[in-house]
Amino acid sequence: MALTGIQIYKLLPKTNCGECGVPTCLAFAMSLAAGKAELAACPHVSEEAKAELADASAPPIRPVEIGTGERKLKIGGETVLFRHEKTFVNPPGIAVLVTDEMSDDEVGGRLERFKTLEYERVGLTLRADLVAVKSVSGDAGKFEALTTRAKNATDAGIILMTEDSSIMEAGLKACADRKPLIYAATKENADAMSALSKEHECPLAVKGNGLDEVSELTTKLTEDGLNDLVIDSGARRIREVLEHQIFIRRGALLKKYKPLGFPTITLPCEMADDLMKESLIASMCVAKYGGIVVLSDLQGHCLFPLFLARMDIFTDPQRPMATSPGIYEVGAPSEDSPVLVTCNFSLTYFIVSGEVETSRVPAWLVVIDTEGLSVLTAWAAGKFAGDQIGIFLKKCGIMEKVNHKKVIVPGYAAAISGDLEDELGDWEVMVGPRESAHIPPYLKEWKA
Ligand code: SF4
Repeated sequence: MALTGIQIYKLLPKTNCGECGVPTCLAFAMSLAAGKAELAACPHVSEEAKAELADASAPPIRPVEIGTGERKLKIGGETVLFRHEKTFVNPPGIAVLVTDEMSDDEVGGRLERFKTLEYERVGLTLRADLVAVKSVSGDAGKFEALTTRAKNATDAGIILMTEDSSIMEAGLKACADRKPLIYAATKENADAMSALSKEHECPLAVKGNGLDEVSELTTKLTEDGLNDLVIDSGARRIREVLEHQIFIRRGALLKKYKPLGFPTITLPCEMADDLMKESLIASMCVAKYGGIVVLSDLQGHCLFPLFLARMDIFTDPQRPMATSPGIYEVGAPSEDSPVLVTCNFSLTYFIVSGEVETSRVPAWLVVIDTEGLSVLTAWAAGKFAGDQIGIFLKKCGIMEKVNHKKVIVPGYAAAISGDLEDELGDWEVMVGPRESAHIPPYLKEWKA
């Protein structure tokens, strides 16, 4: 049973050193009990206490990994019901379905779209994460061949979908080294699927007819030594899916009910016969706690909004989105091109770089580390100061890339120009426009 905050506090060092990010051991104990902190944040806790606290410090929803290498997907690990309480940590994986009864062209089209439908947004690559390979024919050879094809087409994670353990074995023969999700163990096949999951060290999805059956199955499988489980409650009606997702999350977080403490898989592909409706259901699953969302196909007009919804919900509200500091080329700048300085708040970076691009004047954009703050906020907070920017300009190598000695600072940060000139010596600091929309006419007039 989970420990209370006071029970946890008794096991902590009680030095109130604050290294865990909160001022006292008691506050840390309370956060730990509420699942809002991790024990690893305290560097002073003893090994004995660690062992005792292991249960209390384990995330209420177990993180589960699917796949290998760079495209490995991590789901679960969530500690809050609502994003504003802290943040959601692991965005749901979006999967595309292929079956062994689809034609070659259909499978090829889906795999091709899986690979090519990628979008760059605020410095992130938005794309689907998993290929769900389903046996419909009941033919192990066909399933193995399709799994091999999916594996060769992408290095992303795979979901193997069949309730027949001998067919599952054929799929695993083709891709066990990719650590696929085995979908699914049911009341009827739990022992056989459990054995395959253990043998190949792959995560296992549990499918039940309702939450009671799912809880019985996860209890049985965890007693059997399996921990990396994913839940499918069996719901396929919209209202029921939503209820189950909320019930599972609340049960795991608020009641600390271990049998439901696993990420979930949802299947909009089995809930609608047109992709637009499927995508609407998928957006509900992204918002309300799906760990994996399986779609029957991928089309840009459905997928892109889904990616944006996912990105919005899984962005940490306490941490502004930031671009890496450094020198960015816009167009093909030469040694005569202007040098602009801006902050590393992602939105500012993309707006400024977009306006520079619009101007058709190739330029060097130097992005300063302002911890993700916008120009005005960073300036007010002392993170966009003339001397700091000067030091960065000297170190980053921009001075070797141009044959002039002019740098343009944002209009809102005009006050830094004196300090920047002092730091840079013989460089001229030019004050650019306040509004990014005025950058194109400004650059067209600019002369080295
Ligand atoms: Fe207490 Fe450990 Fe936090 Fe220090 S780091 S305040 S010892 S819980």
